[in-house]
Amino acid sequence: MASIAIKTFVGLRQSSPESHLPKPLPALTHHRKLRVAAAKTSPKVTGRNLRVAIIGGGPAGGAAAETLAKGGIETFLIERKMDNCKPCGGAIPLCMVGEFDLPLDIIDRRVTKMKMISPSNVAVDIGRTLKPHEYIGMVRREVLDAYLRERAAAAGAAVINGLFLKMDKPTSKTAPYTLHYTGYDGKTGGAGSKETLEVDAVIGADGANSRVAKSIGAGDYEYAIAFQERIKIPDDKMKYYEDLAEMYVGDDVSPDFYGWVFPKCDHVAVGTGTVTHKGDIKKFQSATRLRARDKILGGKIIRVEAHPIPEHPRPKRLADRVALVGDAAGYVTKCSGEGIYFAAKSGRMCAEAIVEGSENGKRMVEEGDLRKYLEKWDKTYWPTYKVLDVLQKVFYRSNPAREAFVEMCADEYVQKMTFDSYLYKKVAPGNPLEDLKLAVNTIGSLVRANALRREMDKSSV
Ligand SMILES: Cc1cc2nc3c(=O)[nH]c(=O)nc-3n(C[C@H](O)[C@H](O)[C@H](O)COP(=O)(O)OP(=O)(O)OC[C@H]3O[C@@H](n4cnc5c(N)ncnc54)[C@H](O)[C@@H]3O)c2cc1C
Repeated sequence: MASIAIKTFVGLRQSSPESHLPKPLPALTHHRKLRVAAAKTSPKVTGRNLRVAIIGGGPAGGAAAETLAKGGIETFLIERKMDNCKPCGGAIPLCMVGEFDLPLDIIDRRVTKMKMISPSNVAVDIGRTLKPHEYIGMVRREVLDAYLRERAAAAGAAVINGLFLKMDKPTSKTAPYTLHYTGYDGKTGGAGSKETLEVDAVIGADGANSRVAKSIGAGDYEYAIAFQERIKIPDDKMKYYEDLAEMYVGDDVSPDFYGWVFPKCDHVAVGTGTVTHKGDIKKFQSATRLRARDKILGGKIIRVEAHPIPEHPRPKRLADRVALVGDAAGYVTKCSGEGIYFAAKSGRMCAEAIVEGSENGKRMVEEGDLRKYLEKWDKTYWPTYKVLDVLQKVFYRSNPAREAFVEMCADEYVQKMTFDSYLYKKVAPGNPLEDLKLAVNTIGSLVRANALRREMDKSSV
């Protein structure tokens, strides 16, 4: 059976099925060896270290900048808005807290209970298998992003408040890129001043509307539009969401995604998204609010936000000495819409490839060095994106399929596999007997869903 699908299909997030990865092909290994040799013969940088600019100070940019600075690279991080409040649910997996050494005080809530609510309002609790120390972290992005940028600065990165405009390409293999940006140094007022910066390589971490992607002709991707309201609810209502999050599925809240209520420090974030019916997003948002109405009654909307979510990677993510990471590259998973961890992880992975390829900033890098990041990324995460793509198509396609989806969430084995996969980005070893039982249950749920759909089709004729 397709155990990878079973292990990752339910719940908020997905897994990183590293244990399911194909073994590297001999040809690839050989290829990689050749590239290492090429990097080592690249020219030495004299009188200074390699200079790298990162455009965008979200999780992808902050993580990349810290890794570069620690690795001996002269690092510039350009962020247009230092108090940027990225529209985002802010749910992060437990492994991110450890892998990125996040202090616990930047995490607003530790969610240990997740309610999955079907189109007919059947609610299934899916946190029952969590161990006492396990949780989903809920952060406010203005807090997380600022923290990661500050840490990059402490590691030696120059953090520049500026709006990147365009770049001039190098005229030779070792010539610099010239970046043009509007600098906001506080002295020139709101309009800012025209500035330029010369660097040897560029990381585009500037999100879904990436100008760096445009500069290298990276091509477009399909995207969802996600809408979110931050709602301050009375204290007694907030108590209910203290350690609990909700996911709503149904045609009313989204034809192809889910609606959510995620708890923050003193408010909840209520939102939804869609790829196929973007013009109806406000209608879906009202429906999500309506479904949660008893629990958010008396609430006051304190912020309304919307932003695109990429649906798949861009056709091109690399050109010469410029690479894209995070949303700029298109690394959000289907089904769950998770992108924070993947942004930070891709930023770090790209930076590591530059540090390694330049021998800690002593040599010039070339496209082959940056390509190593893409190879590693695709090898590690490509199956995850594929599986979640299929699952979204199967389970989010109709209300009966969604009822089946929620029904399966009641299975403790599914919950354990899902949470282990989401929290640690690793697939926990399965139990063959339980896998088989689950396969039978899955098929049963889908058969019931299809039968129900046929009945509904008949009655609507
Ligand atoms: C409503 C919504 C809810 C979501 N919920 C979740 C969730 O719960 N969990 C999860 O994991 N993911 C979630 N996501 C996805 C997640 O927000 C993204 O995947 C993540 O923010 C990507 O990080 P990033 O660093 O690549 O880009 P971004 O976070 O978009 O950061 C890009 C940065 O670049 C800066 N920038 C942009 N252009 C320029 C420029 N020209 N010059 C200088 N700076 C520039 C921006 O100001 C910004 O700080 C959600 C997305 C949306 C829209």
